[in-house]
Formats: sequence, C-alpha cells, structure tokens
Amino acid sequence: MTTLDTSKPIAIIGGGPAGLTAAYELVKRGDNVIVFEADDVVGGISRTVERDGWRFDIGGHRFFTKVQPVEDLWHEILPDEDFLLRPRMSRIFFDGKYYDYPLKASNALKNLGIIESVLSVLSYFWARIRPPKDQSNYENWLVARFGWRLYRRFFKTYTEKVWGVPVSEMPADWAAQRVKGLSLGNAIINALTPKRKQTDITSLIEEFQYPKYGPGMMWERCQDLIEEAGGTVLMKTRVISINRSEDRVDSVTVANPDGSTTVHEVSHVISTMPMNQLVAAIDPPPPAPALAAGQDLHYRDFLTVALVVPEDRGFPDNWIYIHSQEVKVGRIQNFGSWSPFMVKDGRTCLGLEYFVFEGDDVWSMADEDLIALGTKELAHLGLVRPEDVEVGYVMRIPKAYPYYDSVYKENVAAVCDFIEAEAPNLHLVGRNGMHKYNNQDHSMYTAMLTVENLHGANHDIWAVNVEEEYHETSSTGARSAEAGTGRDAPVLPRRDGGSST
Ligand SMILES: Cc1cc2nc3c(=O)[nH]c(=O)nc-3n(C[C@H](O)[C@H](O)[C@H](O)COP(=O)(O)OP(=O)(O)OC[C@H]3O[C@@H](n4cnc5c(N)ncnc54)[C@H](O)[C@@H]3O)c2cc1C
Repeated sequence: MTTLDTSKPIAIIGGGPAGLTAAYELVKRGDNVIVFEADDVVGGISRTVERDGWRFDIGGHRFFTKVQPVEDLWHEILPDEDFLLRPRMSRIFFDGKYYDYPLKASNALKNLGIIESVLSVLSYFWARIRPPKDQSNYENWLVARFGWRLYRRFFKTYTEKVWGVPVSEMPADWAAQRVKGLSLGNAIINALTPKRKQTDITSLIEEFQYPKYGPGMMWERCQDLIEEAGGTVLMKTRVISINRSEDRVDSVTVANPDGSTTVHEVSHVISTMPMNQLVAAIDPPPPAPALAAGQDLHYRDFLTVALVVPEDRGFPDNWIYIHSQEVKVGRIQNFGSWSPFMVKDGRTCLGLEYFVFEGDDVWSMADEDLIALGTKELAHLGLVRPEDVEVGYVMRIPKAYPYYDSVYKENVAAVCDFIEAEAPNLHLVGRNGMHKYNNQDHSMYTAMLTVENLHGANHDIWAVNVEEEYHETSSTGARSAEAGTGRDAPVLPRRDGGSST
C-alpha cells in the first residue's frame, strides 16, 4: 500500500456518506485527515434526525447496492446485529384506494372498477393503434405504453409533484432507462409471474437492509471509527473559502462554531459540498466562464413534515405515493415500517414529503403552518383524523436533488476542466459534490475510488453510476465521455431566474 505524503492534512468538505467514506478509507491507510462538517450532525442527506426521542429518515434510505466493495464497507462499519432486513412495500394511493407498485394489472383493474377499467383498456388500445408520433417527451412515451387514462391517473400528477415541471416538457430518455420494460402488457405478465422473477424491472427491489436506528447510525459510527483511528472531524465548521495559488489549492478557510475563522493548510481537498457553492468559494475566483457555469447549476429541494400518530393509523408500506391532485404531499413514509426502533409507545410517525424549490410558497411556510397543512391533507386523504395527530416536526432539506437541465452537463464539464487545469489537488465526490444523482452507494464509491486514486490508481469516478455496475475503466483517467444521466433523474427544462444557491 502506498502512503501519501501528507505532511499537511487532506481536507474533506462535508461529513455525509461520501466525505466520511473518504475519511475512513484514508485513516485506514494511515493518512492525515481533517473533516469539516457545517452541520451539528453527520450523515448529510443520509442522516437520522432526532427530535424528542423520535427518529426520522430524510426520504427513507434503502441500503441496497450492486457494488460489492460498498456492501462490504457497510458491514465493516456497522455490526450485523445493527442491520435489519426489511421487505420493501410501497403502493400508490389514489381516490381512497391502494394500488400495487409497481403496477399490477389484476390489482389495478380491480380497484378501477368495471367502467373505468373498460375505458382505460379502450384508451390503451387506442394508444397502441394511434401512438403519439413524437415520443421524445416523457408524456407521449408513457401514453404510448399505457394510454391517456392510465397515464393521467398513475404517472402525471406524481411526476409533476416531484420535479415541479409538466411531464410534457420532460424528455423521455430518462424514463426509458428507469422503467425499461414497463408497459401495460408487461404489467400483466408480471402479475402472472412469481415475484422473484421480476427483479429485472429496475424500479423493483424487494428487500433492503436498514440500520435499526436509521441511516445516520452508519455515519455516527463511521465518525467514531475515524476519530479512533486518529482522524479529526470538526462539527459546525463550515468551509467558506478554498484558497489556491496558480496550480493548486493550498488552504481552506473555515467558519468555526464561535464565529471566528481559521485557515487550514492542506495537501489535498476532497469536496462533497454543492458544486455551485464550491465554485463560488474558490479564491481567487475561477475564470468567468467556469464561475458562471458553476453558478448555473440548480437543485430541487425537499421537506418532510413528520406527524406522530397512533400506530394503528399507520400502514404496512414503507411509503405510499400520493397521486391525488387535490393535495400537495407527494409521498408519505411510515417510519415504523422502516424500523420498529424508530418509533415508540404504540405510536408511529408518518413523514409527509413535499417536493419544493427553496424559497417557494411551501418552503417558506412557518413550521406550524406546515404541520397544519400536513394534518389537513392526511384527513383529506382519509388516512388520519386531525385529532389523532399528537405532535409534528418539520425538516427542510435544501439541494436534495441535483437538477438536470439541458446545459447541466456542459456546466459540470466547465467546472471540472477548470479544476483539472488549475486545482488538480481538489477532488469532487458524492452527490452534490459531482452534481450527479448518486445514491448513497454510488456517492460512497466515488469517495472510495478517489482515495485509491490518491494512492496511485487511475479510476474514472465519473463512470460510477453510469452502467449497472462500475467497470474498471479509463486508461487515461479522463472523465467518461459517455457519462449518462445516472440513475433516476430526468433532464428537465431550464428554470428561469430563481435558483437555489
Ligand atoms: C429523498 C431522498 C431519498 C433518498 N433515498 C435513498 C435511498 O433509499 N438509498 C440511498 O442509498 N440513497 C438515497 N438517497 C441519496 C443519498 O441521500 C445521497 O446519495 C447521499 O446522502 C449523498 O452523500 P454525500 O456525502 O455526497 O452528500 P450529502 O449527504 O449531501 O452530505 C454533504 C455534507 O456536506 C456538508 N457541507 C455542505 N457544504 C459544506 C461546507 N461548505 N462546509 C462544511 N460542510 C459542508 C453538509 O452539511 C452535508 O452534511 C436519497 C436522497 C434523497 C434526497
């Protein structure tokens, strides 16, 4: 094993999965590491939030990966007894009825009733005979496979809630990747096939691992291991400036918890902070085109209203998708279904998820108004009576989703070109760090490969989350030219003005 010459520490910006994975892998090799985490809790978007003894997961984090080194690392960090193996259950809630997800023809037709079923089937055959000519947008792509009636019921509303733009303005290529093989015909075949055989449908994972106190448990333990091995993790310490000379980063300036600032000299910087903020913090600033490119990266934001209710008001699903148009809530988690250790005393906690843009009407509502909105919407859906809601909490998550628009790839490339040329000891990893829709496993894997690169390997971390599985690539170490959109994110229309920063 090569040891890096780190007379000065390697600075890591962010104590989320990617940052802590990098730190953990580095201290295992004896390297000198300092992690700066702006928040007072580790885990980033994969943290467990704790309020009054209730534990919430932001979004619900399934631990599922096809990347064996990541799977191994999870079990190296947490002992097996801390993992639960959970069945995945999620359904669509619409018009007071639960529809299986992924859709099953038998269940869907039963719920729809005879008249709507007949109309839906006619609309499906009509779309087969007369499919929309232009299937380059997601709306027409779906209509061609399901017909208008099923499309409106099962796809339109939820997709628009998540991304905040009309489905007709979304290109279809993402859908083709995400739900490949999905059509009404295949749904019927799936309904008749034993469940185990269905795993080739990308959206379907039947079981997943879950740390019993939520995903943050993994990262709290990881922090302990890093510190035990001699690494430093500074909490409530925000990196405010990345200071460079002509061809490298020499130091970072941080804002300490007491308001003072400190300059730390560094040998390398591994960054998981949002790329647009990183670019703005580089001093002296990058040339205007790279600076503008970084600042033209956008995000979709997210908030959860967690409501404590009696256990029997919950549902067996981990989460349900809310397709009803009359409510703003997009998805409801039942944290008690994720782990019985997250809830207590005959009560469970429902996490109502709202997909928003930072600063919009919903984001800006006062917490008590959001709790009132959530309570009202649960009642409207017929799920929980207002008097059954005991207490509520609000968690706002800025930059939950990197926003893929028509120019994001060029923008990311411009930032990376600048870094390669003028700050090659600055390494981007993770989700917002790379502006890539990486799940936890891929965020971690980019960090693991970056550490190997620091020790002499030549991995192309931009190839992670492009193919089903990462292939050892790139004799040149260049960014993969074919880097796709990654998993689970459509390319969206450009946003006018208002960007979250
Ligand atoms: C709704 C939702 C559901 C998800 N579900 C799953 C799932 O089921 N399974 C799964 O594997 N993944 C899931 N993910 C993805 C997962 O949350 C991310 O892949 C993962 O958290 C990314 O890790 P990261 O370290 O790159 O970034 P983050 O988690 O964003 O962590 C970055 C950290 O950097 C810190 N930071 C930022 N700026 C600074 C600064 N200037 N100075 C110091 N610190 C800074 C932040 O405070 C944060 O702690 C989900 C994400 C969302 C939004």
